Amino acid sequence: MKTAPVLPSSDLPSSETLAKLANVCDEESHAVTLYFNRSTFSDKAHREEALTFEHLVKTARDKSQSDDANNGLSKDLARILGMEPELRSSPSRFKAIFACSDRQIWQEIDLPACGDFSRLEIAQRFHIVPLLRAMDACTPYCIAIVEHGKARIFIAHGTEIHELHQLPSEDLAVAADDSRVGWSHHIEGNVRERTKAYFKLLAREVHELLQDLPCQYLVVGCREDLWSELEPQLVKAGMGAMISGRFHIPSFDMTPHEMVQIAKPVVAGKQRQQYTQFWERVREGTALSAVGVDPVIRELESSRVQTLFLGDLSGKNVTECGNCQKWRDIGNLCPTCGSSYIKTLPAEELLLRKALSTGANVIAPDLAMTKLFGEVGALLRY
Ligand SMILES: [Zn+2]
Repeated sequence: MKTAPVLPSSDLPSSETLAKLANVCDEESHAVTLYFNRSTFSDKAHREEALTFEHLVKTARDKSQSDDANNGLSKDLARILGMEPELRSSPSRFKAIFACSDRQIWQEIDLPACGDFSRLEIAQRFHIVPLLRAMDACTPYCIAIVEHGKARIFIAHGTEIHELHQLPSEDLAVAADDSRVGWSHHIEGNVRERTKAYFKLLAREVHELLQDLPCQYLVVGCREDLWSELEPQLVKAGMGAMISGRFHIPSFDMTPHEMVQIAKPVVAGKQRQQYTQFWERVREGTALSAVGVDPVIRELESSRVQTLFLGDLSGKNVTECGNCQKWRDIGNLCPTCGSSYIKTLPAEELLLRKALSTGANVIAPDLAMTKLFGEVGALLRY
């Protein structure tokens, strides 16, 4: 009997959650965004780390120029400061906090990701794009470890990995002991047939299992000679597009940690390949694509964007009307409502907010990958 697959403990936030966070606008500029991610905390560096964290909060507080000691912002910052020991006790986690006491918002998001990224922003709006990039780095994928007549299957999610239920196994060597088979080539032929039948069964099982899982990628660990038999069966079972690659397994009983170390770069390679293909399509400059900040915002405001690709936009700002929230490219007055209340904000945040509010898909590659692409591009619906 089949058991329900064990899903990773950290759920990725839904696009509704992201849209809600992106729509928050606090005129008092008391919206706090914290990102904190450390690979390790050394014992020696405890005090140093605490100082770094205090410094992060102090710098953000000074920058925000808020001097009312009793306001919601101070409460949020005090609560964040108090979390330092908790954050320290769980390295290798990506922690995001979106807080605005004045609006009763406190949302924590925890992802299983390694890295070295700390940021604290106090502004009118939350900064959501770094979260999307971290989610991209944690895209769940499936690892299948296959040997002669046996297989193990895992779901990996960032630094976490869980073994799913037992897959069927079969003693393929039994054919060699069958006394009714007299000729060695018959035995070999029999084993080959059984192997093929086993892989067919295995491919069907894996396919069925993946139907219920949020996995776009499948990585297979097996010997090269088995791969030539197994891959066609996986393709026949409908998993051709998911296959990210194969890796050599030193042992069928390798540890899950070893698997992630080998499989993760294979998935990252497949993702990079897909993003490169997407970016090339965008750059072709057809009537159904847009490239660059201004053209893409224009298309987003006309709700024509089907998929938004956020490349390397670091340090790039745009302006929008504080009255009607329309993007404004030139002039001191909003061309839509005539208001002179103009705000400056990070371009990637405005692009993301407009994409989420119009139901566009968003691709935000992991920071390490963005350098491979241009600033921003979009494929259009019509
Ligand atoms: Zn306006």
